Amino acid sequence: MDLALVERLICPRPHQATPLVVRADEVVEGNLVRGVVGCPQCFAEWTVRGGVVEFGAIAEMFRCSPQMLRQSPALLGLAEAGRLVLTDGASA
Ligand SMILES: [Zn+2]
Repeated sequence: MDLALVERLICPRPHQATPLVVRADEVVEGNLVRGVVGCPQCFAEWTVRGGVVEFGAIAEMFRCSPQMLRQSPALLGLAEAGRLVLTDGASA
């Protein structure tokens, strides 16, 4: 995962949009290969292995109501143009 991209990640938990902080244990040619990303607001941490942040089942964390699902662009900070969200697996 490109370090420039890592700097744009925000915590996926339902609180004020908070940029994640990174502990880089292994970086190869500007890509984070192994480390930990964490939230300074809720203190959640996620492991980075093989260049992938393992957020786990984000859908399980949210347990969204239909109303929250409609509000998810704002929760993800997508109300402004130019924002980026990566998702995979069940959370997609
Ligand atoms: Zn958080």
